Amino acid sequence: MSSAAAKSGWEVVIGLEVHAQLMTKSKIFSGASTAYGADPNTQACLVDLGYPGVLPVLNKEVVRMATVFGLAVNATVARRCVFARKNYFYPDLPKGYQISQFELPIVEHGELFITGADGKEKRIGITRAHLEEDAGKSIHEGLDANSGIDLNRAGIPLLEIVSEPDLRSAQEAVAYLRKIHTIVRYLGICDGNMQEGSFRCDANVSVRPLGQEELGMRAEIKNLNSFRFIEKAINFEVERQIDLLEDGGTVKQETRLYDSDKDETRPMRSKEEANDYRYFPDPDLLPVEISEEYIEAARATLPELPDAKRQRFLADYELKESDAAILTASRAVADYFEAVTAATGTKAQVAANWVIGELSGALNRDGLEIGASKISAAALAGLLNRIQDDTISGKIAKQVFEAMWDGDGSADDVIDAKGLKQITDTAAIEAVVDKVIAAHPDQVAEYRAGKDKLIGFFVGKVMQETKGQANPGQVNKILKDKLGG
Ligand code: ADP
Ligand code: MG
Repeated sequence: MSSAAAKSGWEVVIGLEVHAQLMTKSKIFSGASTAYGADPNTQACLVDLGYPGVLPVLNKEVVRMATVFGLAVNATVARRCVFARKNYFYPDLPKGYQISQFELPIVEHGELFITGADGKEKRIGITRAHLEEDAGKSIHEGLDANSGIDLNRAGIPLLEIVSEPDLRSAQEAVAYLRKIHTIVRYLGICDGNMQEGSFRCDANVSVRPLGQEELGMRAEIKNLNSFRFIEKAINFEVERQIDLLEDGGTVKQETRLYDSDKDETRPMRSKEEANDYRYFPDPDLLPVEISEEYIEAARATLPELPDAKRQRFLADYELKESDAAILTASRAVADYFEAVTAATGTKAQVAANWVIGELSGALNRDGLEIGASKISAAALAGLLNRIQDDTISGKIAKQVFEAMWDGDGSADDVIDAKGLKQITDTAAIEAVVDKVIAAHPDQVAEYRAGKDKLIGFFVGKVMQETKGQANPGQVNKILKDKLGG
């Protein structure tokens, strides 16, 4: 899309607002549980309902979580931040205002790096990240013509992460979003579950003639909750705006919704109807003072972050670039890979191939996270060791892997039980080779007349005879000796 847009003389400009739900046990200003999936309104206390006379009390865990996020993206963590009331009326917001942060957010001036379309690192600015409470949810299904309100979500802590308008294509937007997604999961502050709405995003999209300094008028696409939909929604919106402008029209500043069934965005509300939120500092909450010591203590708890881990994997394990990126996209996958590598004499790249190939394939097939893998890192290392010491070939190993996945025990158990041990006995291989040569005199003659390619045919026959268990290197060598003679 970016190239299509560039071709037509337009530049795409995107800024993202990400809402990451913070993984606290209780809500941001009350003691009610944040557990997902409870019956409606069983987890909303008087504070969440906004009863008169109740007072919010800040959950200090959200301050810690926002602080580590700020440090992870190289931002300034404010020494003093203030909660503000954002006033609007909506049925899912009984108290008439959302507690958020406005002028003094907890995190400002951050950055992260993505790999651009040209393969180069690109810096994306993070304007700010602020703490706020989620609102409730309207429910229409199963209520005939009525609507219901579920306030379990009211008061769930959110970190809203706002980017600079630095993104130049839908692909860059997705790369940025994936990076944020990876970072919040590395930090253990958000589970990143997009189906459950714990990680969602609004995309601000505009276009401008190539070379123009001034930003174009933007539309904001609300509540995108899958990487694929974000990419499609942005691409649709870019196309729509360019078509509109080329036809002499103007883009309206408005909020739009993406309809994934029709793959289009539709207007939701325009700026003229937009709310004036009348932000003001919440008199029920004290400003939050954050000390230098607190920030340094938080810094000391930071885990190795995705970029650093990727660099270390490249340097220490000499992996392919793309593999290092895949393996470090999640901390659990990276840990698994390192455990396999530590327990086997096999080259790290071979371990990487197995984790990215067979293991990921099996996990995807069964819809499992790596933490629930049916083959432990130690067990996979055991399998790789049997390839390494020539007990089995790589091809047979895939068969052993499947049996291990199905619960047939360790690599050694499976190899013994199924008699899969590789045949490395030269005399035994020679006997099979002799048999194959005797059975195919025509092909032997052709080979000897110069049709070298037929070697594959003979190898295939020997492998067939030995059920794939003959050592391929030895088979090749013995065949060439005997056929050449
Ligand atoms: P609002 O208060 O309406 O949400 P902000 O100024 O806070 O607006 O910006 C919200 C997001 O929109 C930010 O991520 C910002 O980078 C992005 N943005 C602002 N102007 C534009 C524009 N012209 N085109 C694309 N994105 C923009
Ligand atoms: Mg906004």
